[in-house]
Amino acid sequence: MITIDEKLCKGCNICIELCPRQVYEESKTIDSKGVLIPIPKYLEECRKCELCTLLCPDQAISVDEEDES
Ligand code: SF4
Ligand code: SF4
Repeated sequence: MITIDEKLCKGCNICIELCPRQVYEESKTIDSKGVLIPIPKYLEECRKCELCTLLCPDQAISVDEEDES
């Protein structure tokens, strides 16, 4: 399970570009702050490396290690 805190995400797309498994997809829906929040779409590809959580400049991502999906 990957959670993106929409209050923190600035829509920089670093997570989309740098995830080695291409888990994230660019959103087509602008939120109330005018930000495109990435969608963690391909969860089955995630290897829980936590690179995205480390690289997100706004600490918006959490990756649940307990989840097997
Ligand atoms: S790296 Fe963080 S701030 Fe940037 S789009 Fe991804 S979740 Fe949002
Ligand atoms: S934990 Fe690793 S594989 Fe999973 S979404 Fe983040 S960068 Fe991609």
